[in-house]
Amino acid sequence: MKLTRSRTLQQRAEKLLPGGVDSPVRAFRAVGGEPPFVVHGEGAFLWDEDGNRYIDYFGSWGPMILGHAFPPAVEAIQQAAGRSASFGASTAAEGDLAELVVKAFPSIEKLRFVSSGTEATMSAIRLARAFTGRKYVIKFEGCYHGHSDGLLVKAGSGVATFGIPGSAGVPEEIAGLTLALPFNDIDAVQAAFAKYKNQIACIILEPVVGNAGTIAPAEGYLEALRAITTLEGSLLIFDEVMTGFRLALGGAQELYRILPDLTTLGKIVGGGLPCAAFGGRAEIINMLAPLGPVYQAGTLSGNPLAMAAGIATVGHLIAHRAEVYSQLESMSEAVAEGVAVEAAKAGVALTTNRVGAMWTWFFTAEPVTDFATAAASDTAAFARFHRAMLEQGVWLPCSQYEAVFLSTAHTIENLEQTIQAAKAAFAAVA
Ligand code: PLP
Repeated sequence: MKLTRSRTLQQRAEKLLPGGVDSPVRAFRAVGGEPPFVVHGEGAFLWDEDGNRYIDYFGSWGPMILGHAFPPAVEAIQQAAGRSASFGASTAAEGDLAELVVKAFPSIEKLRFVSSGTEATMSAIRLARAFTGRKYVIKFEGCYHGHSDGLLVKAGSGVATFGIPGSAGVPEEIAGLTLALPFNDIDAVQAAFAKYKNQIACIILEPVVGNAGTIAPAEGYLEALRAITTLEGSLLIFDEVMTGFRLALGGAQELYRILPDLTTLGKIVGGGLPCAAFGGRAEIINMLAPLGPVYQAGTLSGNPLAMAAGIATVGHLIAHRAEVYSQLESMSEAVAEGVAVEAAKAGVALTTNRVGAMWTWFFTAEPVTDFATAAASDTAAFARFHRAMLEQGVWLPCSQYEAVFLSTAHTIENLEQTIQAAKAAFAAVA
C-alpha cells in the first residue's frame, strides 16, 4: 500500500493543525503508521489520495448508515445549497425533520436541533439541572458524551485511547460535579443516590456503550436506572448520538423498551452533515428560551443543508425500516462472527461484543462488561490487527475503544473479503 501523497499532506497538516487533525480520534497515534487522506467515498468504500480503496467500517464514526454519497441525500443537499447555505431564520425543513424524529422516538415530544453531539449533551445536562434544581450529574466510566467540561470526566473514545484522565483545562470545581461510576453496576448508582440525597439532577449514559468499544447493558440494568431516577426525582438521559437510528429506528430505547426523560441524537440524524438534537418530555423542553429561563442558541442550528441531508436519511430509514434493520442485523452478524471464527482458528483471544450494526472485537479472552474489562484488552495486538487490515483494504476505527459500524451499502462480497483479510491479519497478530 503506497501512501506517498497522504504522507506529504500529513506533513503539511502537522505544521498547521495539532497532530495534523481536527479531531484527535482521527490520528493514528494508538495504532501507529500513517493515516490515509481521503478524497472520495461511495457506498461502502473510501478512496485515498494515492488511489487506494478501502472497505469502510467506521462510516464517519457513525453517520453513514446508508453508505457514502447516498444519492437521495446528495441530491437533497445540492438542491438546498442552491437556495443558500444558511438563513438564520426558520425553514419548513426544521419542522419536517422534527416530525420524523418524533415519529421514530416516542419518548421525544419536542426537540431542538444543534450542530454537534457535544452541544446536545451539554444542553440536555443544563436542562436537567434547571428542571430539578440540582447540580450533580452521574455518568459512567468509558462513556463519551462530547467534549464539554463536566462530561470529560473518565470519558471514553479519544480520552480513553490517549489515556487522558479527564482533561487539562477543566477546573476541579466543575469536574467535581460529575460522579463517574462503573457501567453495569447498579449498586454503585444506589450508593451515589444515598450519598448525594436530593442533589443528583440526572444520569446520562450511552445505553449501549460505543465509546469504550461496544458494551451492552446487563439484563435489567436500564430498567433499574429508569426506576431509581424516577424514585429519586432525577432525570434519565439517554445519549443516543451513536445508537439512535443505528440499533433500531428508535435507537436503544426501542430495542430495550425504556422511555428516558431526555434523549440526545447526532451523527445519523444529520446524514453526515453537522447536526444533532436533544429532545424529550415537553414540560422539560419548554424550559428553553424563548419559552423559559434555560438559555441555548446556535447561529447554524437547524441549518438547511443539514436538515436536507437528515430528512433524506431518516426519511429513508422510516420508509424502509423493516428491510434496513433486518439486513443490518444479518450482515453484521455474518461479518462480526466470521472474523471471530478466524480468530479462534488462529488461536487469538478475542471477545466480540455486538448489538446490531455496531460492534467491537476486543483483544481479550475475558468478557467485556465495563471500562475496566475493556481496558484489559491487548491494545498492541489490536494495533497490529488494524494495520494488517488496512494494508488489505479494510479500514477499521483506529482504536480498540471504538465501535465498528456497518452500512446498508456493504455487500456479502465485502464481508467475505473482510473475513479473508482478518484471517491473514490474525497471522500477523499471533
Ligand atoms: N455522544 C456520543 C455517544 C458520541 O459518540 C459522541 C461522538 O462521538 C458525542 C456525544 C459527541 O458528538 P460530536 O462529536 O458530534 O460533538
